[in-house]
Amino acid sequence: MSIERDVIILGSGPAGLTAALYSARANLKPLVIEGVEAGGQLMLTTMVDNWPGFRDGIMGPDLMTEMRAQAERFGAEIIQGDVTSVDLSRRPFLVTVGTSEYLAKALVLATGASAKWLELGVDRKLSGRGVSTCATCDGYFFKGRPVAVIGGGDTAMEEAIYLSKLASSVVVIHRRDSLRASKVMQDKAFATPSISFLWDTEVIDIRDITKGEVDALVLRNTVTGLTSQLAVEGVFIGIGHIPNTKLFRGQIELDENGYIRTHHGSRTSVEGVFAAGDVQDHIYRQAVTAAGSGCVVSRSTRHPTPHPRHRRPPPVQA
Ligand code: NDP
Repeated sequence: MSIERDVIILGSGPAGLTAALYSARANLKPLVIEGVEAGGQLMLTTMVDNWPGFRDGIMGPDLMTEMRAQAERFGAEIIQGDVTSVDLSRRPFLVTVGTSEYLAKALVLATGASAKWLELGVDRKLSGRGVSTCATCDGYFFKGRPVAVIGGGDTAMEEAIYLSKLASSVVVIHRRDSLRASKVMQDKAFATPSISFLWDTEVIDIRDITKGEVDALVLRNTVTGLTSQLAVEGVFIGIGHIPNTKLFRGQIELDENGYIRTHHGSRTSVEGVFAAGDVQDHIYRQAVTAAGSGCVVSRSTRHPTPHPRHRRPPPVQA
């Protein structure tokens, strides 16, 4: 037998849990299906210094524990499980988790995005110990220290520019000899004196796992094959993010990078389906903006159709 709910929220990062908090306080008794990366990307960070209200910072996992407890306090139900399929073509919407089925009058997609890793093994093991995928989250810990940024796109340039204001030096390591980043970002990075570039270079190892901290990168030149070492104390992997939208592909409008397209704050191309957080935002990607969008969503779920003033104009007839 399927369980029917007014609101089902997929994902338990800042966006999902804020949507849960607001929906619970509106007496909608939301059900949160937490997903395989319960708590989202903040579970992978150490100290969070940019969440307002904590002057001494708060550990990412602790912040998520608090958010979760706060949502539960108002009646949100949070269950473990990873959604295996959704059917957005029927009403109520059908959400399947293994052999369990749930029906939702309104569905909130807050499944986030996952940073891409180098997949060296060691990069994930040293996460939070010198390896990071988020300069705005962790850059401060590298104040006055030498760091490297890996990647050649806008994410890597943004990370490098941000870090240039904190670190003693920033080396961008890119596997080719030209950047993929937009011209404006390239120009900005090239014009920053503390940023230097290592071209045609890939990282093949991060030292030193035995010490549990980063002290050097082992590099290989992709043209000559020669290997070398670069002494750094931090490494930021900026090779892109993957929005967790596989389940929704073909059922909802996505942009060219796979992120959910939203309009009027949080509405998606399917009426009754809302999106919040990184799954629909490849620009800001901050815990605080994700939480803000979770609040927007829960307001929208109570007003299923946009106010006439905010509706999209009808398509122009040829
Ligand atoms: P991109 O896919 O644009 O770039 C990823 C970069 O990482 C590429 O240079 C790629 O190399 C490199 N890379 C990928 N995999 C590996 C790997 N395994 N090892 C080493 N290097 C690797 O991703 P971004 O996240 O940079 O950007 C995604 C989208 O978001 C873009 O549309 C971008 O414009 C946008 N964005 C916009 C921002 C802004 O406007 N402020 C900020 C951040 C992103 P290669 O070039 O060889 O493929």
